[in-house]
Amino acid sequence: MSKLFNNNFLTDIYGISDIIKSNDYKLKDIGDTSKQFTANLLDIKSVSQNNKSVATGDSTVNNIVSNSKPSDSTVNNIVSNSKPSDSTVNNIVSNSQSSDSTVNRSVIASTNDMVNKSIGVPPLQVLELLRKEIENCSKCRLSASRTNVVFGDGNVFAKLMFIGEGPGADEDQAGLPFIGRAGQLLTKMIIAMGFKKEDVYIANIVKCRPPNNRNPFEDETACCISYLHKQIATINPDYIITLGSIATKYLLNTNEGISSLRGRWQSLNLPHLSDKEYQVMPTFHPAYLLRSPTKKVFVWQDLQLVMKEMGLPVK
Ligand code: SF4
Repeated sequence: MSKLFNNNFLTDIYGISDIIKSNDYKLKDIGDTSKQFTANLLDIKSVSQNNKSVATGDSTVNNIVSNSKPSDSTVNNIVSNSKPSDSTVNNIVSNSQSSDSTVNRSVIASTNDMVNKSIGVPPLQVLELLRKEIENCSKCRLSASRTNVVFGDGNVFAKLMFIGEGPGADEDQAGLPFIGRAGQLLTKMIIAMGFKKEDVYIANIVKCRPPNNRNPFEDETACCISYLHKQIATINPDYIITLGSIATKYLLNTNEGISSLRGRWQSLNLPHLSDKEYQVMPTFHPAYLLRSPTKKVFVWQDLQLVMKEMGLPVK
């Protein structure tokens, strides 16, 4: 219960008595859901640790598969179902080691192809190669002022993805998304839904910080959006929540304002990367909520729509 009282996101919206009433579902229903996600996460983490070896190019997918815990059938099935042939992966990994520009081009071609599920490369490896590709990216002017590329972070098997517009100063320094004040509020939103931050995946429209936290320009988003499309197609979430007008505009390719789009399901197709139609819920950006806390109630309504679709209990 103390967690609930510490959760400013809900206490700002509901009275304390309402939160006490909601305690039952928090502890019982969401607790069950969280346990399942935690179990998955523990095993995914063991896969992630082994994935470090992919970055140095001295491992194969077989290592990752054999090191995943056999007790979790969900993760094991996902990993084993996506196991490619050794030769494919070895070629991919060896390509990613070289700095030679010819080979780098082949890495980019590889990630384009690998996102295609039919090739069967595990998401961890696709994302690692994509991360390598982006680390050296200079396709737009934002590369000149960045400290770190902010690739994205979270559970590569997430059913739910959050997408913001771009890194801020804290994120640029750390190379991680949503770790500043807005990120802390986003974490509270995620917890209020019944998840942990590690259960979901968080990414941005642009991977490098726009100077002085300005909005990314259209040509910058045009350069960068394909990376996000590949992340989405690789992680393959069932649901996506766009945070704020910029993320919504560029992901959904719309000029409709966030105030009219929020709370209404949208769909996203990535025809060259995935057959899936992704369900997208636009809502306000946490940074906006810090400036306008009375809007939290609208965001909570939007999050509850997502929770309902995901089969989570709602108030
Ligand atoms: S914002 Fe995107 S396209 Fe621009 S340099 Fe960074 S990674 Fe490349």
